[in-house]
Amino acid sequence: MFPQRGEASLRRIIRRYRLGYVLSILLWCIGFCSVFVVFWEIWSELFTDSFSISALWNILWTEEVNIFPGLVFKPISFVILAVVAWVSGIAVFMFSRQWFYVPAGRLNLQCPFCKKYWVSDSDRGQVLCPHCRHLVHPKLKRR
Ligand SMILES: [Zn+2]
Repeated sequence: MFPQRGEASLRRIIRRYRLGYVLSILLWCIGFCSVFVVFWEIWSELFTDSFSISALWNILWTEEVNIFPGLVFKPISFVILAVVAWVSGIAVFMFSRQWFYVPAGRLNLQCPFCKKYWVSDSDRGQVLCPHCRHLVHPKLKRR
């Protein structure tokens, strides 16, 4: 990605967006709540002798969950909601973190002609020597 010299003078830092973190935590909570609702509604049917994955699948699609009077959902709706909330929570979390590169502090550069030093905060390859005014590739001296 970066040339060897450039990589040595760059530092990888991360920027976090707090709103994104809050949103992703919120989405994860929504996911857990909906799984909890499903579990709460069907747990009595989970611990039976005839339990199997297909029985669970059947329960998810046929059972009815009453959150409020008159408002009925199939448990599968909550499972889908949980998956959607978790996936978008992860996506928001990923986009809330941004990596970028900054110079890792001041650098000492040495002119190959006049052998004098000067300080710069980045190593950009060819630069004008401030002492002898030659266009040079300065030698890098780490402080
Ligand atoms: Zn010079």
